[in-house]
Amino acid sequence: ATPTSIMVGTGRAAELGVLFRKGEALQRLREASVIAVDKTGTLTAGQPELTDFAVRDGFAEDTVLALVAAVEARSEHPIAQAIVAAAAARGLAAVTLDTFEAVPGYGVTGTAGGARVDVGADRFMQKLGIDPTPFADEAVRLGGEGKTPLYAAVDGRLAAVVAVADPLRPTTLPAIRALHDMGLKVAMVTGDNRRTAEAIARRLGIDTVEAEVLPEGKVDVVRRLSAQGARLAFVGDGINDAPALAAADVGIAVGTGTDVAIESADVVLMSGDLRGVVNAIALSRATMRNIG
Ligand code: ADP
Ligand code: MG
Repeated sequence: ATPTSIMVGTGRAAELGVLFRKGEALQRLREASVIAVDKTGTLTAGQPELTDFAVRDGFAEDTVLALVAAVEARSEHPIAQAIVAAAAARGLAAVTLDTFEAVPGYGVTGTAGGARVDVGADRFMQKLGIDPTPFADEAVRLGGEGKTPLYAAVDGRLAAVVAVADPLRPTTLPAIRALHDMGLKVAMVTGDNRRTAEAIARRLGIDTVEAEVLPEGKVDVVRRLSAQGARLAFVGDGINDAPALAAADVGIAVGTGTDVAIESADVVLMSGDLRGVVNAIALSRATMRNIG
């Protein structure tokens, strides 16, 4: 490719809201065979809402939700915002938070109103030695509906199951169809629950699912898929996506995402959705064709 054709290509891309930070990415993207996509904030809007909340016998719903919200008020995870908003919508009085700790990829722990409160995934409860299986049927149902089941424990006792649902972006399904039409495979990479991820992947026709991936594990997934011979473009938005963006053949950051993600990427999409990936690949192929 000549420098001029790459300049023309990157210029045209910019008009479509696709910023190629490196000219060679325009050439490498054409060779991609798998597009691996982070779920939260990329396939979905990244704005989950609380959909379900149930307590075990002996626990009062409003009391537990107020405690959970007190801890989540300090978390920056989109899940936390959903829970805090739900507690506010119920008009629950705020409980003072004394200590707080976030365990990335697992959940959060805090002391609020004199109680120890743990909120997070199935694997977080297991890590804490709290058995989440009393809610097993509930979790299977919620996951099957594409909702994320979470658990809350008060003073080390399982107290509630909470579910949040993050709506798909309306552009996601057509974009995945377009990627398939271009001969590409699409893989989902997520820290979310396996059942939840699989339910969403089914709706979207996504080819492979890597679920329950820890924040530092995304880069391993990228390396593993690459080792299987795939030319891989990874699309993500979060801080924890940065190493995977850097390790992929082409790292594509969603422009609405975090600065760290953007700095680690070869390509930045100004729009916060997958259509930009379709445009970027189409352009990359067209530019390289023109050069012959
Ligand atoms: P992703 O970016 O794919 O959502 P994360 O690593 O951020 O992955 O989170 C993985 C899982 O850890 C979440 O699906 C949730 O179960 C749990 N988790 C993380 N942060 C929180 C939080 N603040 N409150 C409750 N659960 C959380
Ligand atoms: Mg994310």
